[in-house]
Amino acid sequence: MALSNSEYNLIMRAYEERRYASKHEQTARTEEVYRKIPRIKEIQDEISSISVQNMKNRLTGIKEGDNFTKEQLHKAITGLIAEKKMLMEQYGYPEDYLKQRYICEDCQDTGYVGNEKCHCLKEKITELLYSRSNLKETLLKENFDTFNISYYSEKNVDTITGKNAKANITEVLGKCRHFVECFGSDFENLFIYGETGVGKTFLTNCIAKELMDKSYSVIYMSSVHMFEVLADEQFGKGERNSQTGVRDLTGCDLLIIDDLGTELVNTFTASSLFNCINERFLKKKPVIISTNLSIGDIRELYSERVFSRIASNYTMLKIFGEDLRIVTSLGLTKS
Ligand SMILES: [Zn+2]
Repeated sequence: MALSNSEYNLIMRAYEERRYASKHEQTARTEEVYRKIPRIKEIQDEISSISVQNMKNRLTGIKEGDNFTKEQLHKAITGLIAEKKMLMEQYGYPEDYLKQRYICEDCQDTGYVGNEKCHCLKEKITELLYSRSNLKETLLKENFDTFNISYYSEKNVDTITGKNAKANITEVLGKCRHFVECFGSDFENLFIYGETGVGKTFLTNCIAKELMDKSYSVIYMSSVHMFEVLADEQFGKGERNSQTGVRDLTGCDLLIIDDLGTELVNTFTASSLFNCINERFLKKKPVIISTNLSIGDIRELYSERVFSRIASNYTMLKIFGEDLRIVTSLGLTKS
């Protein structure tokens, strides 16, 4: 479960209030009808007493096969229901006026259908995860459906691998989709690297959206912001205005560290980066790092142990192509 207990309780309390309010409204509607059409109240009372009688018959051993009694009771109830329906119609009330009205009929505002979470509860959880992720609106624009590989050129060939940009991004996309599909069962981390503007952040957003839609908690942080959060914790400046704390960094289902290397690198950032990714590694909680740095730069800037954690436990995904920010602003489409 990706939510904290208090968040979960908050959602469940909202359901309870919803049920209470709808029960209250139903009572008010019923009283109104009873005032206007007193016969309806009599009908309701008769139906109740017949049902009680029916129950008693069963308990006192009148057999299931005693069709006479059963049929008689059934007929009486059907007659009463028809009369009620007719009266309601006559007075201009909709047929379901006396029923309790739920916002979600599927779970009757309990959040559960049997032991399974109802779709409405899943939506609520996802909403909360989105609001906590630091992403919100971005994900409506940047997701797998809007990822456009035509921006990556076949003419742009990597001299080392001999792969062109389009073939490369197609392969990377496949690996990212695989990451999403196996999330929760396989433990995998991604190290996405390449020049500025080649679509690294876009790609991490695609993954974030897919996972949040599956109710996983995702925290997205620019590395600058992440080290601020870690420094606040370390040096006791207290929580910043940010909603995200250190506990979220280590506890969320997926942590995305964007643009690693853009912060001011020093011994503090080097050791806290190691602690963060190491703690998540020990808990088998995935991390995605996106960066302009090569894995070699990581060794130089952050230390040998950060390098070896990443080199041995992260899937390396290199992206290259033209700077998409320039390509899209010029309205070019590469083929
Ligand atoms: Zn529901």
